[in-house]
Amino acid sequence: MTDLGDLKKISEHLPIRDEKMPVVFVGHGSPMNGIEDNEFSLRWKEMGKQFPLPAAVLCISAHWYTRGTFITAMNKPATIHDFYGFPQGLSNVLYPAPGDPKLARETSGLITKATVGLDHEWGLDHGCWSVVRHMYPDAAVPVLQLSIDGTRSPQWHYELASELQILRSKGVLILGSGNMVHNLRMLDWQNPDNGFDWAIEMNTTFKRLIEHAEYEKLFNYPNLGNAAKLSVPTPDHYLPLVYVLGLKGKNEAPIFFNDKIVMGSVSMTSVRF
Ligand code: ZN
Repeated sequence: MTDLGDLKKISEHLPIRDEKMPVVFVGHGSPMNGIEDNEFSLRWKEMGKQFPLPAAVLCISAHWYTRGTFITAMNKPATIHDFYGFPQGLSNVLYPAPGDPKLARETSGLITKATVGLDHEWGLDHGCWSVVRHMYPDAAVPVLQLSIDGTRSPQWHYELASELQILRSKGVLILGSGNMVHNLRMLDWQNPDNGFDWAIEMNTTFKRLIEHAEYEKLFNYPNLGNAAKLSVPTPDHYLPLVYVLGLKGKNEAPIFFNDKIVMGSVSMTSVRF
């Protein structure tokens, strides 16, 4: 049984702010974006300067795909180099942002859809740090990750995310990090700046459905035809978008950025509310 005094302490860990933090879905693309200064990472840098300084960042990364739901709860999350075949420089990157165990407990306590495990094994994977290190290069803001339960439906993830709305009022910047269109088997190395017709079509459809808040259609994306099957062959990079939709407030309109398809089959299209 939880002691009521403890609960009070936990809920007061981060005070309510006057202004809500934005919630952002970021297309992270290649791990190299973590060390390159390019059109995408420059936009991430700008966001870090534009937004109010967050009390913490909570990432939902495509690369932490689990059975069950977990949140990183250590004081010092490790930098995870979860990729192969990239230059050594990328594997040398450390992003030593602190964790926030109290916020991990508070977040776990907000979620009723699942029993959220407090994790001490994971850390920050490249879906998270490749973006956040551009936003907050001094690594002073605590960073946590919430895992994606790969056994659950988009609707379920949407509902879980909506339980975390209050965190936006407490200064927590929530980042879903994936790619709306993501098919690594179809990568077109000859055309780094172009998209296949089906990728362009799906990118446009996703933006329209987000704009018109047609979430049922987004949850049931396999029904959107062949372009959807090619664009979302597995749900891992798509589901972080669903979290961001669950965290959107009623009257918030989407602002799209980095709206571009690279290497044929990966869309960098990102959206914030
Ligand atoms: Zn990825």
